[in-house]
Amino acid sequence: MYQISDFLFEEIQENYPELAEHILMENKPENSCRYISREKRYEVLRRQKWRCNICGCKLKYSKENSWEGEVAHIDHIFPYTQKEFYFNREENINELSNLQALCPKCNLTKSSKEIQ
Ligand SMILES: [Zn+2]
Repeated sequence: MYQISDFLFEEIQENYPELAEHILMENKPENSCRYISREKRYEVLRRQKWRCNICGCKLKYSKENSWEGEVAHIDHIFPYTQKEFYFNREENINELSNLQALCPKCNLTKSSKEIQ
């Protein structure tokens, strides 16, 4: 665990972005923030057989992937913004069972419904 000031961290972020990302991951267990690790994103997609959980269209991991499909959005089934009311405790909001992969279109539709 690193103990550094925000100021120092900003310096590092500016000059050594890769190191900054590493520190962020070490310092903030993913459950305490919105950050979802690469491995977890992959696991969610794998579980859904690389298809959108709502419309079933084909998804891909990132823009760099050459195969066809929409870039997956990893969505909190129970909204992150309501995390203090999550049934399984706030710090577990990023657990696998609360995550799903959606295509950009379905994700937008879902989040606009949540706001209403
Ligand atoms: Zn969809």
